[in-house]
Amino acid sequence: MKTRFCPNCGSMTFPGMPRCSSCGMPLDGSVENWSPPPKSDGPKVIAEVNPSAPYLPYEPREVQLDIIKDIRTALEAGKHIVIESGTGTGKTITSLAGSLEFAKAHGKKIIYITRTISQSDQVMRELKAISTLKPVSGITLTGRNKSCPLLQSRSDFDNLSPNALSTLCSDRKQRSQQGRSGGCPYFDQVSHQMDTVEAYCKRAFPKSDEIDAYCRGLKVCPYEVKKVMMKDFDVIVAPYIHIIDPDIRDNFLSVLDVEPKDIVLIVDEAHNLMDAVREQESFSINLRLVNSALDECGVLKKPEVADGVAIDDLVKAVKNSMRDLASGRIAFGGTEALLKADELEESLCKMLGNDRQHLGMMVERMNEIGENRQDAIADTDAPSCPLLELAVLLRRWVKSPSDRYVKAIRVNEDGEVLTAGCIDPVDIGKFMNELKGAVHMSGTLQPLSTYAKVLGLPMDSIPRTYPSPFPKENKLVIYSKDLTTNYQELQRNPAMKQQLQRTVAQLCNAVDKNILVFMPSYRVMKEMRPYLEEAIYKNLYWEESGRQKKTMAALDQFRSGRSGVFVCVMGGSIAEGMDFPGDELCFAVIVGIPYPPPSLEIKAMKDMFDQKYGPGFGWRLTSQIPAVRKMRQAIGRLIRTPTDRGMAVILDNRAARDARQLEAVPSDDPVADAVKFFAKKA
Ligand code: SF4
Repeated sequence: MKTRFCPNCGSMTFPGMPRCSSCGMPLDGSVENWSPPPKSDGPKVIAEVNPSAPYLPYEPREVQLDIIKDIRTALEAGKHIVIESGTGTGKTITSLAGSLEFAKAHGKKIIYITRTISQSDQVMRELKAISTLKPVSGITLTGRNKSCPLLQSRSDFDNLSPNALSTLCSDRKQRSQQGRSGGCPYFDQVSHQMDTVEAYCKRAFPKSDEIDAYCRGLKVCPYEVKKVMMKDFDVIVAPYIHIIDPDIRDNFLSVLDVEPKDIVLIVDEAHNLMDAVREQESFSINLRLVNSALDECGVLKKPEVADGVAIDDLVKAVKNSMRDLASGRIAFGGTEALLKADELEESLCKMLGNDRQHLGMMVERMNEIGENRQDAIADTDAPSCPLLELAVLLRRWVKSPSDRYVKAIRVNEDGEVLTAGCIDPVDIGKFMNELKGAVHMSGTLQPLSTYAKVLGLPMDSIPRTYPSPFPKENKLVIYSKDLTTNYQELQRNPAMKQQLQRTVAQLCNAVDKNILVFMPSYRVMKEMRPYLEEAIYKNLYWEESGRQKKTMAALDQFRSGRSGVFVCVMGGSIAEGMDFPGDELCFAVIVGIPYPPPSLEIKAMKDMFDQKYGPGFGWRLTSQIPAVRKMRQAIGRLIRTPTDRGMAVILDNRAARDARQLEAVPSDDPVADAVKFFAKKA
């Protein structure tokens, strides 16, 4: 096939292409009226306070006034409100406006937890807009590993784990406070620079990067200075971990000098919360750490963890148990196996000739030895103490009950790994019940009752859904009645795969718009790639597994064009985290239903929830709901403004089961339906 190049940006083009897919320039010579599409400026800030929503700085949409009123009412009653609201309802601004009115009137602090830094930056932008109408202050927190200037100045600290960094930081601060050598120069500046940084934050509402850069200029630690001054701010924007990790949360609330009843919690993108909690409570012990701990034992004088058992005997027993469990339990060709309750513990006891009670004591003793070792190396350049890290993880392992954790042995390219996957976190529910008001928000949270039940929210929590205010006719979602990626069907009918990839190519060639194709996995994407590269006559861009920079560069090119095809994986960063306003994205092709791949954790979780809430609940919670949510997230990328028009095609007839939630209709001929939709004038 002959190719040529765009005269404007030099991107590759093909004969018959109406426009360059990179810069959008018409290729038929009609360039006199062409200019790059304008970027959206966002809503205009109003000049006068609206009495029905005093903290809303924009011309209100009706639905926004409803949301603000409902939040206010729920908080006045001391309740949680669980909200799903469609695109265009302004989730960030309405949750802030409703909560601020209540919090300011009752002297409460707002803690706004987010999953991503870009979302916390968005909160700061909205607070800045609010500040043009009403006095308000806000500050955004980030983890120590992101903002510690000492860490950034030392390349040998690159791979420090959060625990190791926390230990190192405590030690440096203690030295600074005691006037000893080896302290932290950035910590020393905190009391001198606090007023300057506070004034800057209250004036400028800086994003996380901006505040870090400002503090770097003053040679002060942003992490510590924010900790000291945050109690003087109305809204604290923090990563999820500040609330979902019990130790960090206790510390955070005590520094803020508040109790749970004194705060209003806003949970952003709440559909992610449960997975984040489970992830937070899960942990692993890998062979590299065990080997490092063993090396460290070599410099100690064989301290005993029990009578006749030296510390290196215990670490060696861990290493040998990992090897034995992997070889004895993992099937030939496999990479993982479930462990029985206490299987590691029994193996350790057998190797060390001790019982369970003694094993617990040995792990405690190992912890003490690790702490002493940590103190001893604090003056040196050693970034962390592997022995202590291993002791902490072993202690967690023996204390993690098997009914709430899936314990497994796995092997990867670095050797054996012990994993403890949390399937039933209980702490978060207890905390939620201590709150006297919270707002849980997401664009894709349904079924709301399931969210409330699984998270353990109070029974009187209020569920609310608000539709998108954008014209319904601007969006069409269809699903194919004939195609599927169902495994059994693919086995039964080998032609199905060809039909699927042919339809993807036909859809991409038929629609002269920017198109996102969502594949169910990298494996399927790799399998279809050669065919699609041959059959699609447009610029094709790919999400590259593990190559974020390359993916982002490709995405930039795709966004600046108007007739390209970007192929990505469902549930990845493109499907969930990106905005595509206007013509940047008009058409989405979803290949298959993105059920999560089977895993030991999902299977255990499914069984546990079936037992807890009845047959079928586990499958709905672990497979159906996440798959529908992912598809709705992907479809949500299409319409970001009232004038956007977009269409999604789901190439899997199993979508019929969730057609109502997906707002999807069946189609005999997706290609013809797509052509018809885009032929209509907006
Ligand atoms: S005080 Fe700040 S700069 Fe110093 S080690 Fe701790 S986080 Fe890093």
